[in-house]
Amino acid sequence: MTDFIINDTVKTNYWHQLDDGRIQCDLCPRFCKLHSDQRGLCFVRQNRNELSAINWWRLVRAI
Ligand code: SF4
Repeated sequence: MTDFIINDTVKTNYWHQLDDGRIQCDLCPRFCKLHSDQRGLCFVRQNRNELSAINWWRLVRAI
């Protein structure tokens, strides 16, 4: 397996900003509503003033 580390976060799609400033993730039926720096229940997506996937390269390496 090739060992590579590029970045620990990537920008994501499937989310929108709520009127109260939180970000709602629309990727799965949990529809997490996240305050700044809060992670979703999956612990992969995080509100970083936009919704980011963190540690995505670890998931890629595991495949
Ligand atoms: S569990 Fe993860 S993928 Fe599902 S809505 Fe929450 S943050 Fe998004």
